Amino acid sequence: MTGSYYTYSQKLMGTTVSLQLYVENPAAVTAVFNTIEALEARLTVNRDHSEVMSINHAAGKHPVTVSKLVFDLIQQAKAASLLPYSRFNLAIGPIVKLWKIGFNGQSIPPADEITHRLSLTSPHLIELDQTNHSVYLAKAGMEIDLGAIAKGYIADITKLVLAQYNIHQAIINCGGNVLTIGSSPLTSSQEWHIGLKRPFAAANSLLGILHVQNKSVVTSGIYERYFIFNEQLYHHIIDPFTGYPLDNELQSVTIISDNSLTGDIYSTILFGFGVRHGLNELEKHKNMGAIFVTKDQKIFIKSNQHFQFELLADDYELCQSLIPA
Ligand code: FAD
Ligand code: MG
Repeated sequence: MTGSYYTYSQKLMGTTVSLQLYVENPAAVTAVFNTIEALEARLTVNRDHSEVMSINHAAGKHPVTVSKLVFDLIQQAKAASLLPYSRFNLAIGPIVKLWKIGFNGQSIPPADEITHRLSLTSPHLIELDQTNHSVYLAKAGMEIDLGAIAKGYIADITKLVLAQYNIHQAIINCGGNVLTIGSSPLTSSQEWHIGLKRPFAAANSLLGILHVQNKSVVTSGIYERYFIFNEQLYHHIIDPFTGYPLDNELQSVTIISDNSLTGDIYSTILFGFGVRHGLNELEKHKNMGAIFVTKDQKIFIKSNQHFQFELLADDYELCQSLIPA
């Protein structure tokens, strides 16, 4: 370690958000946390009032004009939901609210209620008006949920806030979303060392360490928000085609990208694709790399030269390529 650092944390967005700086700058710290708090208030669906909730409350009744910022994020979320084979779906809200996974009252809902609510989750039923920045949910009961991507979007904005204070080296961690800014003053290689958590283990138990510079590192997994009933695990990433937690060979997908919103979108999309389709997809997206961790303790890596990975867990196998089917 070659320098000192200052860490600040706050409970926001249902998680601990931490910021690490290498110069003391109280005004910048205040600006970052105030910005996150303000954006949370606009984007949350876990309170009765927010810009997104004003759209949800008006479902089936009338369009709602929102700020350009919220409109742009919804527009990007809708586009990601309409990508071929995407299981990312911004209209998943009614199902998320039904399962309540990670919240009080989480339980397995009746199958007929899941079927009914699935009819309220088509992204095509979200009508966007670019001129007025208005959003209309065409059926009563529809709900937009940006929980899968809002932290990435917010992390990218904190980078802009820090730049206003002339801070170009920092880490912001929004719980599963880590954005490294610039190069690290702490290592001789100037790379940041970011831990990849061991699924279902203590926070300091790692599968390995990523070495990155100026990259976002976002993970979507089954081991942060879940419950177990009759020995079956139910986690918070929902398959929009079935209404049940997305069940495939994966425990987690980590995306390494320049911006955190892209990483957040693709961690969910590639989680839904699974390893084989996900690795193929990354051939088309050279601007990002990924780490897939499977339930049978294999780690598949596609770096696309965005990061290096140091394996720490000897009970996991590092697979450089897929064995032909
Ligand atoms: P990701 O894998 O990135 O996303 C999973 C989340 O996306 C799910 O929790 C669900 O919300 C949504 N989702 C599920 N399936 C799909 C799908 N197929 N397509 C698209 N989205 C899907 N938590 C609290 O406990 N209390 C709070 O008050 C609270 N407020 C929050 C406010 C904001 C603005 C945000 C962004 C999050 C908040 N959270 C809160 C956390 C939130 O409920 C999710 O748990 C969290 O955002 C999931 O992020 P992730 O990176 O862990 O998972
Ligand atoms: Mg996400």
